[in-house]
Amino acid sequence: MHIFKTHSERVLKKVKPIVKEILRLDSAMQQMSDEELKGQTEKFRQWIRDGKPVAKILPEAFAVVREASFRTLGMKQYPVQLLSGLMLYNGCISEQKTGEGKTLVCAAPAYLSALSGKPVHVVTVNDYLAKRDADEIGQIHRFLGLTVGCILGEMSQEERRAAYACDITYATNHELGFDYLRDNMAMDESETVMRGLGYAIIDEADSVLIDEARTPLIISGQGGKSTKMYEICDVLAGQLERGTQTEFSATKIFDADEMKETGDYAVDEKEKNIVLTANGIRKVEQFFHIDDLSDPKNLTIHHHVILALRAKELMKRDKDYMVKDGAVQIVDEFTGRVMPDRRYSDGLHQAIEAKEGVQVMEENRTYATITFQNFFNKYEKKSGMTGTAMTEKKEFRDIYGMDVIAIPTNRPVIRVDHEDAVYKTMDEKYRAIIHKIKEVHAKGQPVLVGTTDIKTSETLSAMLKKEGLKHEVLNAKNHELEAEIIAQAGKHGAVTLATNMAGRGTDIKLDDEARAAGGLYVIGTQRHESRRIDNQLSGRSGRQGDPGESKFYISLEDRLMGIFAGKNMMDLFNSMDIEKDEEIGSPLLSKAITNAQKKIESLNFASREQLLKYDTVNCRQREELYEMRNIFLKNSSVEDVLLYYADGFIADTLNGDNHTDMHKICDVLGVRPNADFLADGHKKNTKDLEQELKHLVREHYKKVEVEAGGEEAMQRLVRRTVLRAMNVNWMRHLEAMDKLKEGIGLIAYAQTDPLLEYQKRGAVLFEETQRQIREDVLREALNSRMIRIAC
Ligand code: ADP
Ligand code: MG
Repeated sequence: MHIFKTHSERVLKKVKPIVKEILRLDSAMQQMSDEELKGQTEKFRQWIRDGKPVAKILPEAFAVVREASFRTLGMKQYPVQLLSGLMLYNGCISEQKTGEGKTLVCAAPAYLSALSGKPVHVVTVNDYLAKRDADEIGQIHRFLGLTVGCILGEMSQEERRAAYACDITYATNHELGFDYLRDNMAMDESETVMRGLGYAIIDEADSVLIDEARTPLIISGQGGKSTKMYEICDVLAGQLERGTQTEFSATKIFDADEMKETGDYAVDEKEKNIVLTANGIRKVEQFFHIDDLSDPKNLTIHHHVILALRAKELMKRDKDYMVKDGAVQIVDEFTGRVMPDRRYSDGLHQAIEAKEGVQVMEENRTYATITFQNFFNKYEKKSGMTGTAMTEKKEFRDIYGMDVIAIPTNRPVIRVDHEDAVYKTMDEKYRAIIHKIKEVHAKGQPVLVGTTDIKTSETLSAMLKKEGLKHEVLNAKNHELEAEIIAQAGKHGAVTLATNMAGRGTDIKLDDEARAAGGLYVIGTQRHESRRIDNQLSGRSGRQGDPGESKFYISLEDRLMGIFAGKNMMDLFNSMDIEKDEEIGSPLLSKAITNAQKKIESLNFASREQLLKYDTVNCRQREELYEMRNIFLKNSSVEDVLLYYADGFIADTLNGDNHTDMHKICDVLGVRPNADFLADGHKKNTKDLEQELKHLVREHYKKVEVEAGGEEAMQRLVRRTVLRAMNVNWMRHLEAMDKLKEGIGLIAYAQTDPLLEYQKRGAVLFEETQRQIREDVLREALNSRMIRIAC
């Protein structure tokens, strides 16, 4: 018997009395007229304005939303939904199974949080869901007198601003992140659209905060760099031979002599890393006629060679990307969707283009970038909901400071999860799956087949066609209809093939015949790297106490097996006397797979953590720069800031050699002192000289101001100059940091902690960038040609 309660149980116990209180208020709420109910909003607002404790009105506010939900949508939050909502209000992640009604859950916490005037963002994984939820749940909030907006990809700046001005705004994580970055590139305050980052409620939190956290958001544009290098390196990559290297780890120090290696490079599939062996390094050096590949001046070559090898070894056509209309298009690993507008960063996309022999597109330049981790951590408060979070509890805690709380289901789950079926070959596995589909279909049960890649779904679809079985395929090619099709997947006799999380967020409702036949049968065509994704798939069946089944099919040829089942296990199975098409149900193997999944999960966590650690260096710098930027963007008196820049510049530049220093200062500031001053300058002591120069700059500023057309015009001029200088230099800085990060890999060979090294060198780079910004600003604002001529 358990005597120790889990964390969730303890937390839930504390909150349960509040749920009771909310339920108790039900009859009072029912008696209110619509007007009275709406009137509660103003009452709560006043309460909060008066600085009284929000906790006191919390049960009442939840009860008001509950009654409003009923009057607008005909639904009342179940007790478990109230529980979940309270957890959200407290900044937790509610783990609530599919079909439990999470969309409705967030109505109350969003409402109460919005009453204080802070912007509330409800985050969804796609535009379709943002619109759907804003339309549906928005009715409750509008009924209660709140404004609700929704951000969609195609919206203009004005539309966005209007949507963000609402009390509650629905938007995808991408739109939010991009708007944040764009706001921080704005040349005028009127160009910004957001009004701050208050409270975020993140739906499908695991997808947003974990899966998507591996690729940072990037705003980029045409750069005009040469693309030849990619083609050359692709040729070279073709000549290099794959080999092995003992225990490669970029973070470990090791003795090069003890390393055993073969071939020209080694591939670490787990870490998705490539490392050149000594042999390989020699070949690259010969190919490019250079002496030392690790010399910083050869970093670009090293970068391109590694990219070409990554494209060759780690990026698989029709799995990671597709070649369509002469272009390389990324396939989202989790949804199986093609993302035509997105490109791999850092030149990987170009390397793949070279490999596939399609036109290599010009390299993009990064204007701004942020990881989702750092973006969401900027919110004052955040919470999340998803069907599957427990397996990543530690990550949510460590990276986001959010606790995961498991909310009980409204009704018990009666879905039957069958033991995995294991087959020797891929072919046998596919045949068995088809057999199962037919068998289940014959009973009238709807079937949902989950695949991890487009190829598998195409193979299975072809096989089904041969059998004359009508079915729907959800993958990259018809994703607009995704939600609609998946909503039909619960009709009796429906057979639906869907890549991983296609249609996530859309409810699969059973019809009566399907329910009678045993509910939705979910078939997994392989185990995914992460248990969470598997759970997500089986969880599509058995919602709200519905009947249902799930079963996963595995073959010894599956990719995951190859990497993780271990040689012993594979030998054991291969030596077993297994008949053709025989199903091996093996608890031993299932357990091994679960263990393997755990291992990969923690590896993936480690790599995301690593990304975050590196990004945190960037993050601090970004915050500092954005803060400075904001001062300029919003402050009406830029004179002070500019003179502060000038003073700093003078003080930093005066460094002993008065003569040279003075010339540089005058040159940058555009100050034209008379000849006597210049001649006397180098005789003065530094302190006096500094004072005099500062004085000169002030005089000069006034002159320039007149020249520019007055105070207001000068403000505008300076502001734009500063903002532009920041944009340009930040972009350069990001590139320098990128190069640095890569170079660190090589430096790490000899030195200690690469992260520390990155921090140290990154700080130096940033100082340099700030100096450059200052100089650019002063030069441009005080020293434009027009002004110089006038002087
Ligand atoms: P989840 O996001 O948790 O998978 P959804 O928010 O998509 O679930 O809701 C699933 C279905 O349950 C929807 O059709 C919704 O309208 C319905 N639903 C949710 N809450 C309630 C409720 N309290 N009473 C009745 N129906 C509800
Ligand atoms: Mg949902």
